[in-house]
Amino acid sequence: MSVRELVVLGTASQVPTRHRNHNGYLLRWDGEGILFDPGEGTQRQMLRAGVAAHDLNRICVTHFHGDHSLGLAGVIQRVNLDKVPHEVTAHYPRSGQRFFERLRYATAYRETVTLTEAPVDADGPLARTPGYTLEARRLSHPVEAYGYRLVEPDGRRMLPGRLAAHGITGPDVGRLQREGSLDGVTLEEVSEVRRGQRFAFVMDTRLCDGVYALAEGCDMLVIESTFLDEDEALAVEFGHLTAGQAARVAREAGVRHLVLTHFSQRYTDPEEFERQARAAGYEGELTVARDLERVALPKRR
Ligand SMILES: [Zn+2]
Repeated sequence: MSVRELVVLGTASQVPTRHRNHNGYLLRWDGEGILFDPGEGTQRQMLRAGVAAHDLNRICVTHFHGDHSLGLAGVIQRVNLDKVPHEVTAHYPRSGQRFFERLRYATAYRETVTLTEAPVDADGPLARTPGYTLEARRLSHPVEAYGYRLVEPDGRRMLPGRLAAHGITGPDVGRLQREGSLDGVTLEEVSEVRRGQRFAFVMDTRLCDGVYALAEGCDMLVIESTFLDEDEALAVEFGHLTAGQAARVAREAGVRHLVLTHFSQRYTDPEEFERQARAAGYEGELTVARDLERVALPKRR
């Protein structure tokens, strides 16, 4: 079974607290690891969470505020120290190229790894692999920010009853899948569409079109809820979301598992985020993220 899960490395906005590290999230998607928004201390959180430098194939940075990017310096040096044998690709807003370069070359070290810089400057697809298409959408924050979304291509699920009715067994099933038809029986007659899974990562933004586009139909949505609803005016002023806003997005988009994170240090009771998300009418699976937690993607429909 392929593993698809979110490993939460840190959940604090702006400054770390005694219980929350700066942001950091690893998405395991089959054999690949995608690191999102490594804030300060991410290298050590990876160690504590059982994530190795070798697990990283891609790094996605939403924007260049410190809580989303200061960890790049340590993580990039660690990838090189450990001589990761594969290419690592980094996505980040092109307007922050100088910040990326500073973090990449913050101090002296020996470069051993191919780190490909693939900056983002428009909405649209960034990469296609057999397992997913990675897309970016512009968000609304005081500095340029992009959210990310993975969309697995739809596949087909074979229907054993239909196969049996047509007398198709053994190696013929594989032939039919490869060739699309067999002795007049088409693949469509003996299978159904298996919808691909979708994951989105939405950090540091006001409500905007990009938020809804990223969240649409997601099996898992990881989204910031820096503020509680009573502080909505602050959220709008500083370019953030409240728990209720994030939950309403998830409800309207049909999200199956909502992960709230990026909490302001001003709040002490995480359960209030859950209460407000439920009060906003979101009824799917809900996780108020804690550091070092692992959250599995929901089973396929
Ligand atoms: Zn932030």
